[in-house]
Amino acid sequence: MPTASVPASVSPNRTSSSAAGPMKPKAKTEAPKEKKKLTYSDLGIFAEKPKRPEMAVVQKRMASFQGKWKQDYTQTPKMLADAGMYYAGYGDCARCFFCGGGLKNWEPPDSPWIEHARWFPKCGYVRMCKGQMFVDIVQRKNREKQEITLKEVEDEINEKTGEPRDTEPTAPGVPASDVSPSKITERDLRERGEDASHIPGQQVPDLEVLENENEELKAEIMCKICMDRESAVVFLPCGHLVSCTHCAHALQQCPLCRAEIKGSVRAHMG
Ligand SMILES: [Zn+2]
Ligand SMILES: [Zn+2]
Ligand SMILES: [Zn+2]
Repeated sequence: MPTASVPASVSPNRTSSSAAGPMKPKAKTEAPKEKKKLTYSDLGIFAEKPKRPEMAVVQKRMASFQGKWKQDYTQTPKMLADAGMYYAGYGDCARCFFCGGGLKNWEPPDSPWIEHARWFPKCGYVRMCKGQMFVDIVQRKNREKQEITLKEVEDEINEKTGEPRDTEPTAPGVPASDVSPSKITERDLRERGEDASHIPGQQVPDLEVLENENEELKAEIMCKICMDRESAVVFLPCGHLVSCTHCAHALQQCPLCRAEIKGSVRAHMG
């Protein structure tokens, strides 16, 4: 596993401790319990800014490795850039544009995302792109062993997030084996107040129309910056959903309404 060349210089939101004033006499009645104030992090709001905003664009990070990165490394410039890294300027050190954390001494099995989450678990870019669960799993495994593969972490996430779907109860009173797909469709449609009677194969929908609609829908949810990944970040305060997790930090203003981006939230569809 690579070693961290620079400690993450992420400054946690520290509240300044107020200077102790003169001692007050004890109040007779108990003071109302102070409600714990929710932090941005509690609310899933990302308000931190990248340390090197000029490296927030993935192509720029990729270009930084050109001619300087050993060809035989299993970690390609693309993999590193995707994981937020640009070339730090010496040896095999790569640095994160967001948290400023550096990683060097790469070994063949190392995954940039895993090492990023292992050494810099507070990084907002890792948490936004890979999710808190990813970081938590890597941190837990890190306490147990050295080598962690991307696959084992992803498998565990799939296991965890896939579970509810598997255990979903079937309709009350209907044995699971009795629920055929057509029955589900009919029931669902009725619940929505639609008439299910004309559904089964009376009119074959125009495939071309459907395909076009599908394409339009896809374009609508694609990131307006890279047009490559799905939009998954809601900008605050304007609320627009136009960017993927990878592109969000490259923007200072919302591309739709030009409002300054003061924070963001990871959105999940479906
Ligand atoms: Zn980072
Ligand atoms: Zn994007
Ligand atoms: Zn906007």
